[in-house]
Amino acid sequence: MAQLTPMMQQYVDIKAQHQDAFLFFRLGDFYEMFFDDAIKAAQELEITLTGRGQGEERIPMCGVPYHSADQYMSRLVEKGYKVAICEQVEDPKVAKGVVKREVVKMLTPGTIMEGKMIREKENNYLASFTIFEDESMGIARCDLTTGEGAVTLIQGGQAELIQELSATGAKELVVSKEVNSELLQELERTLAVTISHEEEAELNGRYVHLVKELTQSKLVTTYARLLQYLIRTQKRSLDHLQKVEWYHAEEYMKLDLHSKRNLELVETLREKKKKGSLLSIVDHTVTAMGGRLIKRWIERPLLNESAIEKRHEAVTVFLEDYFAREELRDELRQVYDLERLAGRIAYGNVNARELIQLKKSLQKIPLIEEMVTKLDPSFQERWFHDQAPFEDLIDLLERSIVEDPPISIKDGGMIQEGFHGELDTYRDASVNGKKWIAELERRERQETGIKSLKVGFNKVFGYYLEVTRANRHLLEEGRYERKQTLTNSERFVTPELKEKEALILEAEEKMEQLEYDLFVMIREQVKEYVPHLQSLAHKISEIDVLLGFATVSEKQHYTKPILQPVGDVFIEGGRHPVVESVIPKGEYVANDVKLYPGREMLLITGPNMAGKSTYMRQLALLSVMGQIGCFVPADRAELPIFDQIFTRIGAADDLASGQSTFMVEMLETQYALAKATECSLILLDEIGRGTSTYDGMALAQAIIEYIHDEIGAKTLFSTHYHELTALADQLEHVQNVHVSAVEENGTVVFLHKVIDGQADRSYGIYVAQLAELPRMVTDRAEVLLRELEGQKQPLPNVIERSIQETQPPQLDEVKEPQRQLSLFGEEITAEERKAQQSKAKKLDPREQQVIKKISEADLLNLSPFEVMKLINDCQQQLK
Ligand code: ADP
Repeated sequence: MAQLTPMMQQYVDIKAQHQDAFLFFRLGDFYEMFFDDAIKAAQELEITLTGRGQGEERIPMCGVPYHSADQYMSRLVEKGYKVAICEQVEDPKVAKGVVKREVVKMLTPGTIMEGKMIREKENNYLASFTIFEDESMGIARCDLTTGEGAVTLIQGGQAELIQELSATGAKELVVSKEVNSELLQELERTLAVTISHEEEAELNGRYVHLVKELTQSKLVTTYARLLQYLIRTQKRSLDHLQKVEWYHAEEYMKLDLHSKRNLELVETLREKKKKGSLLSIVDHTVTAMGGRLIKRWIERPLLNESAIEKRHEAVTVFLEDYFAREELRDELRQVYDLERLAGRIAYGNVNARELIQLKKSLQKIPLIEEMVTKLDPSFQERWFHDQAPFEDLIDLLERSIVEDPPISIKDGGMIQEGFHGELDTYRDASVNGKKWIAELERRERQETGIKSLKVGFNKVFGYYLEVTRANRHLLEEGRYERKQTLTNSERFVTPELKEKEALILEAEEKMEQLEYDLFVMIREQVKEYVPHLQSLAHKISEIDVLLGFATVSEKQHYTKPILQPVGDVFIEGGRHPVVESVIPKGEYVANDVKLYPGREMLLITGPNMAGKSTYMRQLALLSVMGQIGCFVPADRAELPIFDQIFTRIGAADDLASGQSTFMVEMLETQYALAKATECSLILLDEIGRGTSTYDGMALAQAIIEYIHDEIGAKTLFSTHYHELTALADQLEHVQNVHVSAVEENGTVVFLHKVIDGQADRSYGIYVAQLAELPRMVTDRAEVLLRELEGQKQPLPNVIERSIQETQPPQLDEVKEPQRQLSLFGEEITAEERKAQQSKAKKLDPREQQVIKKISEADLLNLSPFEVMKLINDCQQQLK
């Protein structure tokens, strides 16, 4: 490469320090990007790629105007990139040589404060983890917009780490460069996070107060790395960071990433939308803070009985008085996002309009406190005992900021009259000066008799008196001082006018500067209240969430669950909260779930689409709802406090998402089997269907036996392998249930009712009819089915436990019956085959081909869909 110009050399040096970010390099009125940054940014932002320099040495370059750069930067950050903003930090006029430039701020997915990515009802977390020598792992998270920070220490391996990090929902992860790159790739893939590096993990002395309560040095180190990253990238006040909360992961129900996704707790599986998730049903919050809190609660259901009970108690109280509750919610609606306002105040980017929002919110608090306390006097102690007084703050804002200030804080017009003497003097000077000028115009018109005489203003000459050329002769000589001659008029000044002008201009300039200074002073005073505002925000959000629970509980007729740390499941008339909300009112069929000693595992059979998955998820969702403090959709519900919930779905069910393979299904199942305890809930939905029939069945049976014998967790297992229902006779705690369906005039009606006993058939063909497969396919399938049913049992029954105990079944043994299965019977003799073939000879060649195809098909190694396709092909051939 040829010699770089000094400026390009400066660029290259700064870029070397920020290799993982787009470097926006300020050049006059533009931010420019060069080399690979330019090529990539041009693609990502769809802007023109140009070049700097000549010929082969031309450097790729692209740029954006500085005044609209924000949107381009935000777009890159939304895509998961980082942006380093490099400004000129000395005045070009006084600079010797190349103007000095420095990176003044980094924008990253986990640290941005504004823009589309900051959703009202969601936290924007930055997380960090540190792996210590003894293999324990510290995890820290922080939301820069609210200042909230938390840290925990966990044991375990990669799966636990992913689980805990996924619970933070972080957009960006800060780690040491020493962390194994394979692990980072896995995290990037599963959690869709941006990875950033920070080697410094010493706590910066200025922030000691944040970690005072963290008694373990590992926790401090973990948080310090995250903090150091913030200090390095933000380069501005972090005074709003809140005291770091030390949470213990074991105090919350463990929900691994797959279970959380499968249960659609906060977003739907396929579309990743809130609508259709549990969150969308139970979130009736009216403040942004409440919206964020409920999401955190759903992601971390509680395990502590009394903490859960406390939430239930509040819901009970709020539920009792509809009118008081609604009035209270109306008041809460008028409370702005105190937490993020506090963040902006401390961060220094709050404007006067937001300070008015703060004032209005604070003015609501006394009434809210009164209303809450009136509902239950103990709530005074619960939420308001340490309430800081805000009268002085309200008073300050009332006196200082006008009711409807402009958004900009640079153009004046924000500060109340009477707040500051000097400002008032300037304002008077400006107003009086302008009045004086208006009076001058009136007087001079009268005295000179020139009606068109006027006073004007421009930036070059200031104020002047203007007389048209036609009227010039009416002006007595020497009355004014001539300043400028135009084609049709002349402009004059008088010493008095100049004097007033100086006063007015000075006043106006000073006014704007003084308003800005006063605003900054007020903001600094408000900043003192930041910790109190944050604490108030917590209380308000909690009240908001609980009021919302009461609202949905009343609307949807939920009941208070009875929770016991270790106990049985007795649900009467339970409903799936999301499904019941999307189907026509009154059509949901409520179901009981009973799990108790001797009946701890339910083997659920029934036609596809009958409601097996719904039934299983219903139990999990009721448990989550109960453990976050909400009431549950059931007539009566007694539930244990589950320590973990595992939800696994057979791979075939999840094919549409394009992610699941049989291997994933097995890995997930392995994780559940390794981690579940007898206090856990396991939902296994069609596990084993991702492989061939025998394999799948054998695995399913072995898994059921393992959970039964080794874990003892409450388990719901749905399967289309009817043969497995025989397990209920062999395993003490297994009970068959099925979702009922009836046949009416050749069509099947799903009753969605779950009852004891096994299903008698699988109704697959009826589902195919429902899906409007060609009539020929379903008719033919029915004929084939009848034939098959006429044959001997095509699959072996479950393998007797006694056999298994003495002699584990060999795969070959299980596969043995494969030979027996033939469409025309088991073990056909050569003679029989001949007879069949001669019979076939009477058929036309196409029919013969079809028969050949069917008789040679290795059904046991085909998936149901492949069988369907086979039949379809045959039918096409016969047409
Ligand atoms: P399966 O797992 O047996 O294939 P699903 O649980 O997916 O069936 O249920 C299929 C559909 O049936 C659901 O989307 C829902 O519309 C309806 N459904 C399920 N359970 C009920 C119920 N208890 N009451 C009313 N409709 C239900």
